[in-house]
Amino acid sequence: MIRSAEFPFESPNQENFVNIESAANSPHVGDWINGGAVHIGASQYINLFNPSSGEVIAQVPVNDAAVVDRAVQSASAAFVTWSRVPVLQRGKILFSYRELLTRHSEDLVQLICEENGKTFEEAKGDVARGIEVVEFATGVPHLLKGERLSELASNIDGETIRQPLGVCAGITPFNFPAMVPMWMYPLAIACGNSFVLKPSEKTPLTANRLAELFSQAGLPDGVFNIVHGQKEVVDALCVHPDVSAVSFVGSSHVAEHVYKLAAAHKKRVQASGGAKNVLLVMPDANLESATRAIIGSAFGCAGQRCMAGSLLIAVGNVAQPLRDRVVAAMDQLLLDDTLKNRQAGMGPVIDMRSRDRLLAIIDEAGGQPVELVRDGREQLPERGYFVGPTLFDHVPPGDKLATTELFGPLLSMMRADSLHEAVEWVNSLKYGNGATIFTGSGAAARQFCNDIQCGMVGVNVGVPAPMAVFPFSGWNDSFYGDLHVQGEEGVQFYTRQKVVLSRWDSQYIRQMGW
Ligand code: NAD
Repeated sequence: MIRSAEFPFESPNQENFVNIESAANSPHVGDWINGGAVHIGASQYINLFNPSSGEVIAQVPVNDAAVVDRAVQSASAAFVTWSRVPVLQRGKILFSYRELLTRHSEDLVQLICEENGKTFEEAKGDVARGIEVVEFATGVPHLLKGERLSELASNIDGETIRQPLGVCAGITPFNFPAMVPMWMYPLAIACGNSFVLKPSEKTPLTANRLAELFSQAGLPDGVFNIVHGQKEVVDALCVHPDVSAVSFVGSSHVAEHVYKLAAAHKKRVQASGGAKNVLLVMPDANLESATRAIIGSAFGCAGQRCMAGSLLIAVGNVAQPLRDRVVAAMDQLLLDDTLKNRQAGMGPVIDMRSRDRLLAIIDEAGGQPVELVRDGREQLPERGYFVGPTLFDHVPPGDKLATTELFGPLLSMMRADSLHEAVEWVNSLKYGNGATIFTGSGAAARQFCNDIQCGMVGVNVGVPAPMAVFPFSGWNDSFYGDLHVQGEEGVQFYTRQKVVLSRWDSQYIRQMGW
């Protein structure tokens, strides 16, 4: 049982830095500034690994504030003309981008498998969900329409106008190399803003390909820029005087840091953080479909989803039959190199540090009352950063296995006497991303939906992640800010509203003698 140890997300891996001389021997990842790839020559690079094999596939520049300034200047210059491009024309470029993304989705899938280690089907899903946001953004002429009220007072009309903010910045995590950046920049750009993206240093290749395709779709140079790097780039974006808004997705402690830093520098900020998502199973649930959904939720993307169900709560006497089914299904998951084997059911975690962190959690977690039911340290592929599906049972409330985001294929199981008790446990967690109930009872589902303290709720759905038309609605420590990414909240975040009152009375016409 673990009470005191925290499982922090790792800070940049210092051992992984390579100096400029050795970096010259491997392919370098370029930044994307003013419509093309640029190799500025950073003083430090970090190795980029294929997590399935552990091989170095490229080197990523660790840029500094000067490169951020160059990208922001490019975006500022582009904003002047882009914000005046008629909205229908902007929508057409989004349509072309959607077509190109669809045509080239195989290359994107390949890059995601290579740099992130997702399975083929997971990588396809990552691209498809991103494209859905682009599809939503093509509706920008409709999304930007304001309201109008005639004759508010005598001869006075009122209307609202939505205008872009300027240069927007986005900072993204490794776990959805296509979808999460696409939560941000397509809508920001459709609304008339320009954009600087700082993708995860662990998945830079997909981001660069997304930028290249946007240029090919006819996006003017400078509207979309990418700067690679780590904390220095993130902090420089948060404080740059010409950045108007910052969107962040990543772990909670960095989300809080970005929120505070950017807000202190007068930016509009939306910062999505980590999660401990709950899968609650009632005695009347359909166990066959619930088990399928639980396996997909807990072990899909090797448990590295912000909506991954990582806390399984069984209510009443369903616990043992549920556990038997879940363990049997875990045994069927095939771990393999996802680039080489399209049938692989589960890929590796992102890097060696994540793997070692997760294995250390399993090492520490055994002992009363926690039972290690299935051990992810066993039967691992020889190469790559694999951790097998792991199940802990009888996890008590308050244990770190029940309260902390582990971000890997580790599932903690708790046993509650009643729905009320289970909901109380869930509501004591500091996060507030997702929670699902599996039940055949409308009344239980209704009570759960009303009482649960989190922003994305599922009923018999393993991963209740909202589609592009809805906001991605984290609560509590899963989100800092007000307006979330996606949907109409996304449009509101990337625009500001003006209210215009006009008085045009007929006296003016008479005065002119018309
Ligand atoms: P992370 O917080 O380590 O990194 C996210 C981004 O922040 C990266 O671009 C990284 O370079 C940068 N960064 C890292 N440390 C920093 C620091 N100290 N100062 C400034 N910038 C820093 O997250 P990750 O490991 O890439 O991704 C996993 C996390 O992201 C999980 O916690 C997961 O739940 C979360 N996530 C949340 C959502 C959501 O919608 N809530 C979606 C996807 C992922």
